[in-house]
Amino acid sequence: TPVLSAYRVDKRYANGTVALDDVRLSIASGEFVSLLGPSGCGKSTLLKMFAGIEAPTQGHLRWWGQAFSAVGTTGRRQSMVFQEATLMPWASVADNVRLPLDIARMPRREADERVARALDGVGLGTFGKARPRELSGGMQMRVSLARALVTEPDLLLLDEPFGALDEFTRNKLDSDLRALAKARGMTVVFVTHSLYEAVYLSDKVVVMQARPGRVIAEVEIDATVARD
Ligand code: ADP
Ligand code: ADP
Repeated sequence: TPVLSAYRVDKRYANGTVALDDVRLSIASGEFVSLLGPSGCGKSTLLKMFAGIEAPTQGHLRWWGQAFSAVGTTGRRQSMVFQEATLMPWASVADNVRLPLDIARMPRREADERVARALDGVGLGTFGKARPRELSGGMQMRVSLARALVTEPDLLLLDEPFGALDEFTRNKLDSDLRALAKARGMTVVFVTHSLYEAVYLSDKVVVMQARPGRVIAEVEIDATVARD
């Protein structure tokens, strides 16, 4: 079974905007997939549906073959990373990253070990005690990524996570993210409007168009592209 599937999915917002029209898509385990297209083509809408934040107007979505309400029964976990780092400014970096574990009531000791590992994983092992505002934009995005990874998700959803960063920082985060995902066998859906970023990162690029939002092509990227 695919990790994610969308079948004849339409999305019409309350104001009448048709954000998605007849989207059909299937994402396999361990795949790194980009949703690529111009502003307004429905990338964020589709990602929010995968995150369970928006429901389709018609059609259906499946997570590991299940309806969203039954994802819990699959034992699989998913996390989402938003465009902005959305960190709690009053809390330390470690406290920010621990938040999902606190919500899950994980014992403090085990949680702290997980937090340390997650921060190491994104190259911020020594910054646990810092406050978010003491960090650069790229470092704050890494904290946000660590917070998403700390639950050890099977599926990671990212909405233009590095779009606000300079090109060098973005390239570095892109290659670190790909390496991390591949090392853990994570399935990733990554929203971008950068063709370069999509081709560099992905095993498969899903190309979308606007008005109405549609999938117009799915392109497999040859594994021999120089990136690993
Ligand atoms: P981006 O395109 O950079 O992802 P946003 O996520 O803020 O920007 O919004 C995406 C698009 O959705 C924008 O064109 C925005 O105007 C539109 N949008 C967001 N929320 C609403 C809303 N409540 N009503 C109408 N349009 C909205
Ligand atoms: P993208 O992420 O590709 O920029 P979006 O999914 O944000 O596209 O938006 C797709 C279309 O739906 C756009 O026309 C946008 O303005 C509209 N839209 C997005 N969110 C809302 C909303 N909450 N209410 C009404 N229209 C929305």
